[in-house]
Amino acid sequence: MKNAAFSIAVLPGDGIGVEVMDACLSVLAALERRVGGFALDLERLPGGAKHYRQTGVALEEHVFAKCVRANAILFGAMGWPDIRYADGTEIAPQLDLRARLNLYAGVRPIRAIAGTPAVLADARSKTVDFVILRESTEGMFASRGKGVIDADREARDTLAITRATSERLFDFAFKLARRRHTGRRRPPRVTCVDKANVFRSFAFFRRIFEERAQLFPDVEAHCHYIDAMALDLVRKPWEFDVIVTENLFGDILSDLGAGLIGGMGMAPSADIGDEHAMFQPSHGSAPDIAGRGVANPTAMMLSAAMMLDWLGERHDVAAARIAATSLENAVFAAFAEGAVRPIEFGGADGTRAIAEAVIERIASPVATG
Ligand code: ATP
Repeated sequence: MKNAAFSIAVLPGDGIGVEVMDACLSVLAALERRVGGFALDLERLPGGAKHYRQTGVALEEHVFAKCVRANAILFGAMGWPDIRYADGTEIAPQLDLRARLNLYAGVRPIRAIAGTPAVLADARSKTVDFVILRESTEGMFASRGKGVIDADREARDTLAITRATSERLFDFAFKLARRRHTGRRRPPRVTCVDKANVFRSFAFFRRIFEERAQLFPDVEAHCHYIDAMALDLVRKPWEFDVIVTENLFGDILSDLGAGLIGGMGMAPSADIGDEHAMFQPSHGSAPDIAGRGVANPTAMMLSAAMMLDWLGERHDVAAARIAATSLENAVFAAFAEGAVRPIEFGGADGTRAIAEAVIERIASPVATG
């Protein structure tokens, strides 16, 4: 990329999605100014549950086409409990984007940030630093919109596991573990989470995992049943590195993981495919706090840092990767210095105040070394 300008499809969505996106865009503008060497061509696009209520369409085709053409998608949150499709399910264009753009790798880092109160009593919980890799195009979610209800007596949804997607997912997991390993003491480790003791689909999933593990002999490969993982993520979350799992299990474990580091407002995510990628906080539109300006924008800002890192790596633009590090460091500094206390930690700092504290701490490239 000659001029290091990236086109970004910006989808704020519903509820606090709009609030955390506004905060995030002001942080990105500060990064562009202070770090330099890259430019973001941001296009704000409509979509979501409220858009569905007004127009009858949650994400219009011309908006989808812009998402396809953009270098990356930056997404707030979509969905609203009172606005539903006729079958009773919620409006969730993020799921359509994941499926249509084949964003199979849902990367959800769970990292305790220094300066935030520990959630677990054990002091080791301050060292929690793992990634949940949630398969995001199939699994139980393959049945979305296709479940069958038989004469109001019986309902069925079918889980799908394919070899092609599982192989790509596991390869992604092993490479991610290698990448995270740089400078660490322990060998990289990937833990596959399934229910292979009960379901054939998961036995198949595990068999593919074990096959792919052979190709990465430098990475430790472990398997865990989902129920045991729910237990161990509370008992000893500091022991995990990369956790790879099916879509619905990943959905549930992501919220558990966010709980370990303070709440949904602390948990960023990226949905990555071979051609496209979307970056959004792990949380939803949070109707219970929407409109009050109190949503924690940390997850949104850290998702934007993941976007800059991904763009920098994919297009070989060092400035974007420097900006990603600069943003992460500014967030970490704001918490470490006790400058921000989101509502999830019992504080009173609003969305805007947290973004401003981060902007104040964005260092120039010289200062970041
Ligand atoms: P979805 O299913 O759409 O992902 P959800 O039903 O899991 O959404 P969220 O919208 O993620 O629900 O909210 C779950 C809880 O976390 C709510 O109590 C909400 O207020 C809180 N929450 C979510 N995001 C934030 C945030 N950024 N800051 C503070 N609290 C948040």
